[in-house]
Amino acid sequence: MTARIAGRIGTIDRLSAVMASPTLIRLGAELATEHRVGRRPAHPPYVMLQFAALARLARSGVRVELDLANPATWDFARSITLESIHAHSLDVPAPGPLPPTWEQWRWFRDQRLATDEGLGVLARTFPQLAVDLARRIGQLDPHGAGSLTHPDATRTVYGDGTIVRPIYHPPRAVRVHDDDGAIMPMYPDPRTGELALKPPGRFDPDLAEHHGHLGPVLGHGYVAFHTRGPSPNQRVVLGVDHIDAPGHEAACALRLLADIARHAGSGIQLVVYDGAFRGVHIDHVMRRHGYLVISKMPTHEDDDGAVQAVRTSEGRMAKSYPLGIATHDTPDGPCGHPLAAIGGRVVQLDLDDTGDPVVVAIPRRGPVKRSRRTNGQFHFNLGYDVSCPRGEFTVWVAPHGNADSAARPENLRAIPDDDPDSLRLRGLRSDAESFHASLKRTLLTERAMSLGWRRGLLDTYAYALLNNALTEMVAEGAQTRGAWRTAAARR
Ligand SMILES: [Zn+2]
Repeated sequence: MTARIAGRIGTIDRLSAVMASPTLIRLGAELATEHRVGRRPAHPPYVMLQFAALARLARSGVRVELDLANPATWDFARSITLESIHAHSLDVPAPGPLPPTWEQWRWFRDQRLATDEGLGVLARTFPQLAVDLARRIGQLDPHGAGSLTHPDATRTVYGDGTIVRPIYHPPRAVRVHDDDGAIMPMYPDPRTGELALKPPGRFDPDLAEHHGHLGPVLGHGYVAFHTRGPSPNQRVVLGVDHIDAPGHEAACALRLLADIARHAGSGIQLVVYDGAFRGVHIDHVMRRHGYLVISKMPTHEDDDGAVQAVRTSEGRMAKSYPLGIATHDTPDGPCGHPLAAIGGRVVQLDLDDTGDPVVVAIPRRGPVKRSRRTNGQFHFNLGYDVSCPRGEFTVWVAPHGNADSAARPENLRAIPDDDPDSLRLRGLRSDAESFHASLKRTLLTERAMSLGWRRGLLDTYAYALLNNALTEMVAEGAQTRGAWRTAAARR
């Protein structure tokens, strides 16, 4: 293999990965329902999920039908699935003898998947199977590496939200009264100005409500969480969900994280997200799940609750959030040191000659402790080494807010932006952005046809299945090669 293509995966191998993925077949098994009267589907549900994942690979569902219509291709694809069913002792029926069609996929998508029930099964089952896959490649191990003080990349999940906008601009429209006096939209021809009932060109009918309004057209928003190993093709998509309203990204991400946490449990130490996670969300993740959070501090807005201006060691003025006085006993009696948070980091203050507060030291970040309360909530304490001429001492600071305010978790970060652990781990988040960017590239020819958020969410699930199938194939290949090497070494 030349260096240029080493480690990269060709189209046939990608197709094989989808057809072989036991995770995908198991997810399909959860979608199987009793067939009462009427048409019996030509294929079990997992074949429809394979079709959906291949449609992201081919960037078109019709293209998948064309590709699989070749008898040699379908024989090959079907045999891979049969081998996998046998190898993993999966209790599912065989794929039908004839290749699946786009019409079959469309029926399954609209009748079975794009429904509250179908999406509910995916939401319940996908994270569980994904966490199993993650553990097979050494991720999210509850007994794995790292600690809350220094979380490990294998026990970090990261997420991002994105807006998928329609590729076609909504057509210009005007409102006219029809013969009965009702208001209806009409579409002027861009060249002649002649009004027509249907707009010229292609558009996403789901965005029809926006017609006739100038201004931005909203797309559909989605959130995804992942974990990844150190090698290529080791990303596991842990879950995806739809953002139900503008501004609800963080709330949606918290719901999705809860679905993942149910299965991952203490396998997760750290959640990396972007600035959409503010103090209130960070506190929620810490208390409810016992995970730490890295999310970028906002730089341009007014920090919530950070009021007192202090002079930093570099001589500039910065807003600080007061954390109270750290006291310790000395032979001369108690000695106090005012602490504050600047940019998420704990600083030690004193008064200068003119009585103004000034940063005199940056306490070293020490251990992170976590306990669990009787109500099931987690409680964190962050240790800091405070310097004093009378002797250094350790102070414990809780990063939690209260019912009235999330100012403390907003301003005091367990792992601040400039911490070595943040520099080591926060880069993972760019991989979440690249997942969304790659997904959008597979939608170029279909975006306008993917009606509504439900089908958009299914596109996202399908791309996640494709991603995880590749991860699974590479992992199983590594195991197979390992077994082969072991067998070869014995000879
Ligand atoms: Zn002191």
